[in-house]
Amino acid sequence: MTQQTETQAAAGAVIIPVTLFQQNCMLLWDETTRQAVVIDPGGDVPLILDAIAKANVNVEAIWLTHGHIDHVGGAAELRDALKVEIVGPHADDKFLCDAVVESGERFGMTGARNFTPDRWLKEGDSVSVGGLHFDILHCPGHSPGSVVYYNKAMKFAHVGDVLFAGSVGRTDLPGGSHETLIRSITQKLLPLGDDVGFICGHGPGSSIGQERLTNPFLTGEA
Ligand SMILES: [Zn+2]
Ligand SMILES: [Zn+2]
Repeated sequence: MTQQTETQAAAGAVIIPVTLFQQNCMLLWDETTRQAVVIDPGGDVPLILDAIAKANVNVEAIWLTHGHIDHVGGAAELRDALKVEIVGPHADDKFLCDAVVESGERFGMTGARNFTPDRWLKEGDSVSVGGLHFDILHCPGHSPGSVVYYNKAMKFAHVGDVLFAGSVGRTDLPGGSHETLIRSITQKLLPLGDDVGFICGHGPGSSIGQERLTNPFLTGEA
């Protein structure tokens, strides 16, 4: 009874690969309340709406990890379709959120629109959906305003494009810095603990421990 005073909410989730970048758009919900969020709706909004209908959940918000087109290209359209608020990323990615149209045109993505989040996020903030609570870690380097969503109770993080299974985010785009990125990973993500699993913006997820031991960008082999 003593350690069960805070009941752990059960989570459900599906990944919807979107855009030509096969970005891992995530529909995440509290199994008890069916309250849900969509993380990084990069595009292909009809696919996302389909997944929401199949899961039979109530989406309350859109959460963004950073401002790159493959993560935010469908944000304005989905916001208007669902009448929900957009939360994140950090305000340092405002220049990207203001340039979604140009980015979309560069990659032939139609329908991508600029937007202003209802709430910018910063280090130390927290966000919730149902009984699922996430702490916000500001992890610049891939983009200046990248944030990570960390759920301590579930030992789970959504790291956007900061860290990948066997790799790290690219840093050759505007505002990128490899040195800053590695500092974000070593100072904010590795301390979360080896048993923390994560999903990232592209490809399979991994765990902090697996990456600490084998990721060439962290072991000094890259
Ligand atoms: Zn990115
Ligand atoms: Zn990406």
